[in-house]
Amino acid sequence: MSLTIVGTVAFDSVKTPHGQVDKVIGGAATFAAWAASYLYHDIQLVSIIGEDWPEEELNKMRERGIDTSGIEIVKGGKSFYWEGEYDKNMIDRTTITTDLNVLDDFDPNLPEHYKKSEFLMLGNLTPTIQQQVINQMKNRPKLIVMDTMNFWIDIALEALEETIKQVDVLSINDEEARLLSGEYNLLKAADRILDYGIKYLIIKKGEHGALLFSKDGMFFSPALPLPVIMDPTGAGDSFAGGMMGYLASRNEISFEHMKMSLMYGAVMGSFCVEDYSIRKLQSLSPEIIKTRVKNLLELSRIDLALEI
Ligand code: AMP
Repeated sequence: MSLTIVGTVAFDSVKTPHGQVDKVIGGAATFAAWAASYLYHDIQLVSIIGEDWPEEELNKMRERGIDTSGIEIVKGGKSFYWEGEYDKNMIDRTTITTDLNVLDDFDPNLPEHYKKSEFLMLGNLTPTIQQQVINQMKNRPKLIVMDTMNFWIDIALEALEETIKQVDVLSINDEEARLLSGEYNLLKAADRILDYGIKYLIIKKGEHGALLFSKDGMFFSPALPLPVIMDPTGAGDSFAGGMMGYLASRNEISFEHMKMSLMYGAVMGSFCVEDYSIRKLQSLSPEIIKTRVKNLLELSRIDLALEI
C-alpha cells in the first residue's frame, strides 16, 4: 500500500500584509507530502526540480519517510518558481511571476515500485501530465484525487475534462467550481461537475470551510478560526495532503471516511497558514494534529436533542 503524490516542488516568493519571504521552499507536492506524512507513512513523490533545490530539504523529506526517487533532478536546471502577493483579506492573490523552468519539459517517468500505488494524488499540473501519470499505473488505484486551477480551466478545458473523467475525487475552490461549471450557485455547480462521473467533489471555501458532494449527499466541514494567518500559500495542497493521508491510513473510502478526511484536510491547511512556506508543517506531531482535529469536531458539536 502506498500513496503517490504528483505535483510541483518549487521555490516561492510571497508577500502578505504581514511581511514577505523570498525564494522559500514551496510547490503543491511539497505541501501535500509534508501534510500527509504525519498521517501515513508510505508516501512517494513525483516531480521535477533543478540542481538549485536544496539537497538538505530532500533529506528532510527522506527522514520523514517520503520516497523521493520519483523526483527528477535536472543537471544545471532551475526549479519551478512562483511569486505571489496577497490582498488585505489574505484570500485574493495576484500571481506576479510563474517561471516554469524545468517543469516546461516535465515528462514524468514513474519508478517501477510507484506503479502499484493504491492512492494517487494528482496535484495542480498540466492535465495531460496528470493523464500520463494515470496511464503509467499498473493497476487502477483504489482512489485518484485531483486538484486543478483557473489557469487550466481557461487554457486546456478539453484535456482537463478528459482527466476529470478518469478520477474519483476532484478538489477545487469555489471560484474554480463556478468557472468549470458555468454556474454561480455551488449546489448547481456541484451537480454539473458530478456529471463528469466522479464519485466525490470537494469545494474548498478557504476560511469558510469546505463542502463535500456526492450523488448521495452533501457534507460541510468548517475551517478552524485562527488568530493569525501568516501566509495562505499551500493551504489547498496541505488540505489535499491531509485528506489523502487520512484516507490512505484508514484504507477506507466510504462517505463517512470522506467526511472525516475533510476534517483532517482542514486541520492540515490551518497549520500551513500559520507560518510561511512549510515551516509549521515541518514541526508537527501526530498528537498536535489529533488535538486540533478534536477541537475542530468540537466546534460544531451540539449535545441537545432536537425539539420542535
Ligand atoms: P495553493 O496556495 O494551495 O494554491 O498552492 C500554492 C503552491 O502552488 C505554491 O507553492 C506554488 O509553488 C505552486 N504553484 C503556483 N502556481 C502553480 C502552477 N501554475 N502549477 C503548479 N503549481 C503552482
